[in-house]
Amino acid sequence: MPELPEVENIVQGLREHVVGRKIANIIIHKPLIIKGPYRLRRQQAIDTLQSKTVTAVIRRAKRLIITTDCPLSIIVQLGMTGKFLISPPNAPLAPHTHAVIKFLDNRELRFIDPRRFGRICFIENLDPENPDPAMIAAGFGKLGPDALDCTLPEFLQMLDSKRVIKTLLLDQTRIAGLGNIYVDEALHQANIHPASIACYLSKKKAEKLLTCINNILHSAIKHGGTTFSDYRNAYGELGRFKQFLKVYQRTDQPCRKCSTSIERVKIAGRSSHYCPKCQKLKPKSKV
Ligand SMILES: [Zn+2]
Repeated sequence: MPELPEVENIVQGLREHVVGRKIANIIIHKPLIIKGPYRLRRQQAIDTLQSKTVTAVIRRAKRLIITTDCPLSIIVQLGMTGKFLISPPNAPLAPHTHAVIKFLDNRELRFIDPRRFGRICFIENLDPENPDPAMIAAGFGKLGPDALDCTLPEFLQMLDSKRVIKTLLLDQTRIAGLGNIYVDEALHQANIHPASIACYLSKKKAEKLLTCINNILHSAIKHGGTTFSDYRNAYGELGRFKQFLKVYQRTDQPCRKCSTSIERVKIAGRSSHYCPKCQKLKPKSKV
């Protein structure tokens, strides 16, 4: 599932190709992927967007937002397997192409999603500087601060909880953009056991964790994200960060810090990968 670095890479790729281009038409091949206020009147949204120019492509957590020079914006959640491809006109449609934005210069932006957990919404009056109110009005869930913008006071406030750190970091309403891969990697880099109780972390350790989250996300963005199966950027390229992963999906392989075998446990229904030596569980003391 694409997390913050993968979505950021797609956004950067799309920005280069679609900002400033005029929309000629939008073709929806699979109406079920359209959600939100225009679900039943999508043609009205499409008619409104015709001849409008794309003004920006931005990211909010794992959501991708295409704004235009009219009050309608397009929000995309990639779900498990959603991806975009920039295609020349008349290129054959890949299987599972559910929507196509055609531009006046004949270039096409195609949305492909084999497992169909992705969704596309048309929403009104979204402020690119502060997109949350319009998204909430359109029925999207509330999001916590973006993992790349989260300040130390916000992070410390979030950690003031008896919840398990792994579960808390995956909760998009508390800190947004992280998923299983980057949470496991950040906890390993910070030497924190994924089942640690959040409020038992010392301030120093919490500060270290926030730094590690930032380091890992920036590094993953730089290397094009992580591809396990479906993720591709807007050019159809694979992410290259997989080779830098220290724990995620490395069960029974040696820890890259201490050579102990990486273990996998289920925490709140999610697999967590960690090193039992570098990430010791000290549940009832400040670690
Ligand atoms: Zn280790």
